[in-house]
Amino acid sequence: MEIKFICDAMLARLARYLRAAGYDTALAGNAVSDREVLCQAVGEGRWLITADRKIIEHKSARGRVVLLQHGSLDAQAEALGEYFAMDWMGRAFSRCLLDNALLVPASDEVMLGVPLDVRQSGEIVMQCPSCRRVYWRGSHYRRMMKRLRQWQGDESTTF
Ligand SMILES: [Zn+2]
Repeated sequence: MEIKFICDAMLARLARYLRAAGYDTALAGNAVSDREVLCQAVGEGRWLITADRKIIEHKSARGRVVLLQHGSLDAQAEALGEYFAMDWMGRAFSRCLLDNALLVPASDEVMLGVPLDVRQSGEIVMQCPSCRRVYWRGSHYRRMMKRLRQWQGDESTTF
């Protein structure tokens, strides 16, 4: 089965990258208690990624929580790799960065709203069925891909 995650509210940036890599990743709200987050993690079969040491004191945290150090995004990604065989590139950009929904190919109608040079380049344009956001390889995409590629240890793929 695929690994699923939930990040605590402080790790929102890591959550975005996990989604960019295609991992099913929930993000806990700011006001949610440790108990509620753990409850969601257990209920939905997610690993809770947190930098909050207190949370591992909960009984239900056992075998459910990955404790990361506060630190750089790169260091956190590397630490995750010690727990899981992370595949940062295999399903890259298949999920919405904002709400975790699986992207679908943009419809002809949506394509009309996409800049002409993007359409003419023939590249794949995706859309989030939930928030309607449209994704293509803009500069932001490229920046994130570069990072995912570094984490994967693969400098050869060109995007
Ligand atoms: Zn979305």
